[in-house]
Amino acid sequence: MSHAAEMPTTGVAYPTAESVEDFGRAIATVRTRIARAAGRAGRDASEVRLLPVSKTVPEDRIRLAVRAGCRALGENKVQEAKRKWQNLADVDVSWSVIGHLQTNKVKDVVAFADEFQALDSIRVADALDRRLQAAGRKLDVFVQINTSDEDSKFGLEPDQALEFLRQLRHRDSLRVQGLMTLALFTSDTERVRACFRLLRTLRDRARDLDPELIGPGELSMGMSGDYETAIEEGATVVRVGQAIFGARPTPDSHYWPGTAPEPGNVA
Ligand SMILES: *Cc1c(COP(=O)(O)O)cnc(C)c1O
Repeated sequence: MSHAAEMPTTGVAYPTAESVEDFGRAIATVRTRIARAAGRAGRDASEVRLLPVSKTVPEDRIRLAVRAGCRALGENKVQEAKRKWQNLADVDVSWSVIGHLQTNKVKDVVAFADEFQALDSIRVADALDRRLQAAGRKLDVFVQINTSDEDSKFGLEPDQALEFLRQLRHRDSLRVQGLMTLALFTSDTERVRACFRLLRTLRDRARDLDPELIGPGELSMGMSGDYETAIEEGATVVRVGQAIFGARPTPDSHYWPGTAPEPGNVA
């Protein structure tokens, strides 16, 4: 096993993709690393969905990424996602909202999102369910769990997961796909790995108790700095932004208040 391949890439300067070719190369590199990580875990790379995360990326560059093969995009903030969805209406791409949601933004999510990965309150679940019923549609959702025990991260406490999943059973328009998490932001791979393991354990426990609680039992975990570790621990969805689009000008503290800015994320 190559040790270097396991090193978190946090802090590495991600080059900014500026052409279809740049995007093609960046995506190919990520896919190769996905395949290697899957191989190390005895898994097939086809079990892992790559969700490119386009937050802060302007629409002209998103168009290049789509031409290079991106068919789904993840966005953290609803406002930004909605603007891009409107301005890219001519592009065949599905939108995944992966950031914390307030009830006053629920109607926007119902208007354009194909997936919501950060469900962590019954209030939001109820608001979504009501709007979805009215719109006559369903929505794929992931329940977000705080596996790192950090106050700055959103998500349910691990010991609340099962009860929350039980409560979701009565919200018929929400199609539970599985669990989502953000690991600890650290270069200590073993501590990152422990977060991913915890998510997998919770998924397995729910499945053992009642497979209907967790649908296909997906695990959305892993970002640019730690997706290979996540895949080794069973990720079925990895959310990768900077390794595809390039380093972000905004520090992570913009998305997770209280998080120390990562050197690799600051322009
Ligand atoms: C931004 C973001 C990611 C991707 O992070 P990168 O470091 O750009 O790969 C993943 N998940 C969530 C929830 C995000 O907001």
